Amino acid sequence: MDNTPLDDTTAASKPPLVDAHAHVFCWGERPRDGFLSQRTRRSWLTKLMLWMTGVHKEQGATISEKMRSRLLRHVDQSTLDYVVVLAQDAVYRDDGSRDDPATHFYVSNDYVLDLAKRSSKVLPGCSINPIRRDALAELERVCEAGSRLVKIHTAIQGVDPALARFDAFYRRAAELGVVLMFHTGYEHSCTVQSQDFADPARLERPLGHGGTIIAAHCGTCALYDRGDQYPSFVEMMHRHDNLYGDTAIMAGLIRLRSLRRLSREGSDVTGRILHGSDYPFPPARLPFVFRTGLFPPQRRNTFDMDLRIKQSFQFSPGYACKLLELLGHPAVSR
Ligand SMILES: [Zn+2]
Repeated sequence: MDNTPLDDTTAASKPPLVDAHAHVFCWGERPRDGFLSQRTRRSWLTKLMLWMTGVHKEQGATISEKMRSRLLRHVDQSTLDYVVVLAQDAVYRDDGSRDDPATHFYVSNDYVLDLAKRSSKVLPGCSINPIRRDALAELERVCEAGSRLVKIHTAIQGVDPALARFDAFYRRAAELGVVLMFHTGYEHSCTVQSQDFADPARLERPLGHGGTIIAAHCGTCALYDRGDQYPSFVEMMHRHDNLYGDTAIMAGLIRLRSLRRLSREGSDVTGRILHGSDYPFPPARLPFVFRTGLFPPQRRNTFDMDLRIKQSFQFSPGYACKLLELLGHPAVSR
């Protein structure tokens, strides 16, 4: 097996490396910035993540500051040129009003816009629940503020992407050149409204407006899930040239075979696969040891390790750089 990453070209021609999918969390000391609900704070996964990431050792007076310090330190020290850090909008009621009691994970758009001011490597990925009354105004505001990618978390935010009521939102995003990222595949980290909303088959409507759409996680599910939405992702990729997929969380233990399965698709699919980590969720190293070696130098940085594993699958030469082109980023000469 050739383990040479495709993007390791000479310095002169080296394309910028970008991670399309990273998270920051807020504990809730300043709820306007973001929060985790009591239920999420008490969950075993949250406790495990806090312990595994050693976040208490980071700089900062509060848990949120420590989580932010860790993210910025890792971004700064990584070999990546850019990282999209995602906000997470709230759950909204049918009448467009915000439903805080039903929201278990929230990060404000201003919080990630501020992160982008703190690090030139951070690209703000704002999040807008299209059910909210002011969804269009917020889309224009964050686009103006520099967010060229907007995430919709179908399962957690309770958004069925197939609803006609979102047409104006999809149309405006396409006009503005804002890339829409939809969560696809079963969600496990947080309380969900409906897993069915995460089926890539439901992306037909936003795709029909012609803008660039990213199916986060390529519809993959865990080994133990009752359904598998990946076949639906592949079918949609064959039907829509403006659909892309990211590899976020796919080096995790519960999706063990997903990277290999994806890498065996034809180039019409693998050519539109984008690199994403799902930081701070770390990749599992052991299952990929034959690809990376026992002690790869990248192991010291979660972003680098995740990239090292995924580059070994050789999806396409543009795997870790194509996103910048889709965002119309100035680092890419068009
Ligand atoms: Zn994610």
